[in-house]
Formats: sequence, C-alpha cells, structure tokens
Amino acid sequence: MTPATKRFILGQLKAHRNMSFATVRSDGYPQATTVGYANDGLTLYFVCARDSQKVRNLRRSPKVSLTVNKDLANWRKITGLSMGATAKVLERPSDTKRAFALLSRKFKEMKTLSAEDLADTVTQTALCGLGKTAANPVLSTLRYFREEYEAHIIDNKCPAGVCKALIEYYIDPEKCTGCGTCKQACIHNAITGEKKEVHVINTDLCQKCGICRSECKFEAIQVS
Ligand code: SF4
Ligand code: SF4
Repeated sequence: MTPATKRFILGQLKAHRNMSFATVRSDGYPQATTVGYANDGLTLYFVCARDSQKVRNLRRSPKVSLTVNKDLANWRKITGLSMGATAKVLERPSDTKRAFALLSRKFKEMKTLSAEDLADTVTQTALCGLGKTAANPVLSTLRYFREEYEAHIIDNKCPAGVCKALIEYYIDPEKCTGCGTCKQACIHNAITGEKKEVHVINTDLCQKCGICRSECKFEAIQVS
C-alpha cells in the first residue's frame, strides 16, 4: 500500500461514522448490516451483541467485506472505501476496553457505556450522602480534563510529560552543542556523545529522572 493510499483510507475513515459490514452466513449467503465504527489506524472496531447473527458468522468465518461512504445525490461525487478483510470477536478485556474507549470518543451517545455514566448511576442510587458524592471527583475531572483522560487511555500519551510510563526523553540534535553536561549528570550512564558532538540518550538505560533536562542550558533535552 502506498503512503498516498493509506492517507486516503485514513481520511475516509475519519470523515465517516458508519459502515456496511458483510459477514458470511452458514448457508453461504453474505449478510450485510450497517454499524457505527471507530478506528485505530487501519483496525476498525464496532459493537454488537455477542449472540447476534454477525458474531455467529464471524466465529465460523473471519472473512468480511465492508464499505464506508457518504450518501450523495450525485453518484459521480461518491467517494468511499470498499474493503475485503478478516475480523474477530474481541475476547481480552484490555482489547474491549480500548475498543470502547475509541468508540466512545467518536460516538458521544455511547456515554451509557462509560465511567461517566457509572459515576452518574452511583450518584443517583447511593443510599447515603457520602455515597452520593463519592463519584464527584471522577465526574468533575472528566468534565474539565476529558482530553487528558483520552490522551492517556486512548493514545497512551501524557501531554504534560509527567507520567513516566508514557514518556521518553530525547535530545534535539538541532539544539545540542555537545557540551557534555547532561552526560556527566546522568548517574545511569544513559547518555553518550563526544565533546562538541550531538549527544544521544539510550532509552533502554534511561530511568526518566529528568536530571539531564534540568541541567541542559540549551533546552536541547525534550520529552515526547
Ligand atoms: S547538556 Fe544539552 S547541549 Fe549539552 S550535551 Fe547534553 S543535550 Fe547537548
Ligand atoms: S532522564 Fe535521568 S536517567 Fe534519563 S538520561 Fe536523563 S539523567 Fe539519565
């Protein structure tokens, strides 16, 4: 697949919300249905009942085909996707969690499946005042910092550059003067480089303590 084709496909997937999705029935007939989807690159997710005909078909055969397109009066203007693919029913909780997170971000109406809704339910059904306010921190942080939640959970990124598990330190070669201060400061020997040459951080050794960053006078050490 060329980069241009991939860009086109990702653009179409981003521009639309629904797809027609065909599975193979046991009698050999194709079964096409319309479902909402969310995508992670070229992997698509959708939700349906585990006892639905679609799932029964998929468990028997992973072969599927799908189309993504917009309804247009003038068929000459139609752009869309038609794909042959294989699909599987997600079984691991970590996979379904990620799929739900992606779908909830795209379909706000899927709020009924979210932590936000669970918190609402706790507030409405708790029997004492303390219970009724227990979910408030979740609700208020979701209200004001939803993008932060989504960046951490869905994109595995920490926009503030604080969560060690989600960040990496690197040296900007444009800014590094090769002064060597960071190399001396790193007690984990994670930085290499000759004097007056661009230095490099070995991410396998780096403990993400941030000392080198605070020592570099040239702001060459960045967090991604
Ligand atoms: S302290 Fe900064 S400028 Fe000096 S070698 Fe390290 S990264 Fe480069
Ligand atoms: S963040 Fe800490 S461990 Fe990593 S390179 Fe810098 S000083 Fe070394």
